[in-house]
Amino acid sequence: MPDSMEYIVQTEPDGRQYHVTALISGENAVMHCDCLAGKSGQICKHRRALLDEDESLILISASHPVEYLRAAVMRSDLGRSLDRLRYSEQLLERAQQLNSEEKARFAKIMNAEIKADEDRDSLERQLENQLAGELVEGDH
Ligand SMILES: [Zn+2]
Repeated sequence: MPDSMEYIVQTEPDGRQYHVTALISGENAVMHCDCLAGKSGQICKHRRALLDEDESLILISASHPVEYLRAAVMRSDLGRSLDRLRYSEQLLERAQQLNSEEKARFAKIMNAEIKADEDRDSLERQLENQLAGELVEGDH
């Protein structure tokens, strides 16, 4: 017997309200949202807001506590996929930061403000170090 959870959510104070349904059956979880993005099969902010701890979420009504939904989803196949998605988003954010830093360095080297450092860590190594640092900080 699948667990069915119903939520009516809004993500902006004056925004429209949308109906999100989660159906969880053991390992399998699916979530539907009746917004335009949701109906066309895209990730929508309403479902992400329910699953992430998103401050923009305005909960109008809930059949189950949101924490219950999150815990059930994280035990499912959808939760494992969400973990990977979140990790890839962290990687992307770090890569964008590194890209900005490397652009700034490149400009300085090009303008002879600094010399290129032969012993610099590879970008992959820097990315790994930054993520490792972030994960350690996140544990507290
Ligand atoms: Zn939606």
